[in-house]
Amino acid sequence: MLRGLMQDAPLLISSIIRHADLCHGDTEVVSRTVEGGIHRYTYADVHRRARQIAQALGRLGVGLGDRVGTLAWNGYRHLELYYGISGRGAVMHTINPRLFPEQIAYIINHAEDRYICFDLTFAPLVEKLAPQCPTVRGWVAMTDRAHMPQAQIPNLLCYEELVAAEDGSYEWPRLDEWTAAALCYSSGTTGNPKGALFAHRSTVIHAYAASLPDVFNASACEVILPVVPMFHVNSWGIAYLAPLNGSKLVLPGAGLDGKSLYELFEAEKVTMTAGVPTVWLGLLAFMQENGLKFSSLKRAVVGGSACPPTMIQTFAEYGVDCVHAWGMTEMSPLGTFGSLKAKHLKMSPEEQFGTRIKQGRAIFGVEMKIVDAEGRELPRDGKAFGDLLVRGPWVTTGYFKGEGGDILRDGWFPTGDVATIDPDGYMQITDRSKDVIKSGGEWISSIDLENIAVAHPGIAEAAAIGVSHPKWDERPLIVAVKRAGADVTREELLKFFEGKVVKWWIPDDVAFVETLPHTATGKLLKTQLRQDFKAHKLPTA
Ligand code: AMP
Repeated sequence: MLRGLMQDAPLLISSIIRHADLCHGDTEVVSRTVEGGIHRYTYADVHRRARQIAQALGRLGVGLGDRVGTLAWNGYRHLELYYGISGRGAVMHTINPRLFPEQIAYIINHAEDRYICFDLTFAPLVEKLAPQCPTVRGWVAMTDRAHMPQAQIPNLLCYEELVAAEDGSYEWPRLDEWTAAALCYSSGTTGNPKGALFAHRSTVIHAYAASLPDVFNASACEVILPVVPMFHVNSWGIAYLAPLNGSKLVLPGAGLDGKSLYELFEAEKVTMTAGVPTVWLGLLAFMQENGLKFSSLKRAVVGGSACPPTMIQTFAEYGVDCVHAWGMTEMSPLGTFGSLKAKHLKMSPEEQFGTRIKQGRAIFGVEMKIVDAEGRELPRDGKAFGDLLVRGPWVTTGYFKGEGGDILRDGWFPTGDVATIDPDGYMQITDRSKDVIKSGGEWISSIDLENIAVAHPGIAEAAAIGVSHPKWDERPLIVAVKRAGADVTREELLKFFEGKVVKWWIPDDVAFVETLPHTATGKLLKTQLRQDFKAHKLPTA
């Protein structure tokens, strides 16, 4: 081998914030705080305070590889912890506060977190958790002395006091780039949560890839507001790619309702945002009810669960390019982005739409293939569907502490999604393999049925699930939430499916409910729905 002559510079997370300080030191980071009000400072400030908190963690005895948990919204202190914890060689463990307390305690104990940093919102939760978490030496309230919680929390520390005690003269260590940097437990809906452990190297490569023009298209001219939480797979990489590119960052805190988001979008001139479909339902409904428009937003990235085609259309009516994205916790998380190619731009809007609704093409670095039950690769013809497998430098090799054993198949990670891939490389998810409706040995896509249901003007949200049927094994049931003031009937909704899918795909029944259950990351919780409607008697049965 003739060895190349380039330098061996490890890819480290600390380099991102140092770079942001040197090249974008005056670029703003704006946060809506839990204490109330808006906080504003710059990447130079983030870098200084990240070094201070890194020093403080050292003083608390946090060593290489130790896990430090966070229970926090998207805010500036959380951002400092992203860099302070990982930068010093410890592992930042973001915990989803929307999980059940028993699951959170399980996760903290499994991760053996040494310290947990929490936003004030979660003080009552922490009070409950503390007695159940023996590995945690201290609980850090992410606030100043004046706002310290009154809750009965043992070894309670004040974040601002920890920061103030340090001078920030910390030199980031030159770590091995394979050092673990962050830990995130997957929000899998069955079994115990399992940890994906990201390395510095994988995180930095992912941040580069996520910045590409056909991905987030980040730059120093953008203003990015991640609605996706920093506890949902590192806000899909935004907490890294924004400082890497010098994009202004706007962090919404706990204000995720339509009104709070809209006001922040407008006040800070946000140009790009990202989040799961459920949050956009709230924002778009608020705008429709109040006859509002966006003055600066250009791009909304939607992922985490299938983006209903109607949502892409509604965003388009507001002049916003809604881009569909797909990924998984186990993939850091980005796998595909639905950006169009030049040839699509020459097509009619209807033809373009056929591509826009797909989950998108693989980002360079991610390899994808679909296989049949025997593991044979299926054609990339946009029609054949099978199990989606992936591999690449930011895809996991296995879960933290070996949970679940050897999960790879010949080096490929089985996503659990069922998908097609077309000749242009666009992947479309038919279903989560656990969610497909199996009718008479054939598969019905629950996502397709949901997309049609929510296209009905009277429907706000819908889930399609399989309900047992004596003849067909399973038949589809739509569980739907009506739009406020709408008066749609079961018959009307079923009729709406006619001509949109083959006859045998048309659901057998509709159940209207007030709300649908969601997972902690905002996906429809179909395991619960299947349980709730287990005894549902279909009229066709
Ligand atoms: P999580 O690890 O919680 O982000 O969940 C990953 C799973 O969410 C994927 O395996 C998919 O089943 C689902 N998912 C993510 N993005 C999308 C999308 N754009 N369309 C459909 N499903 C998605």
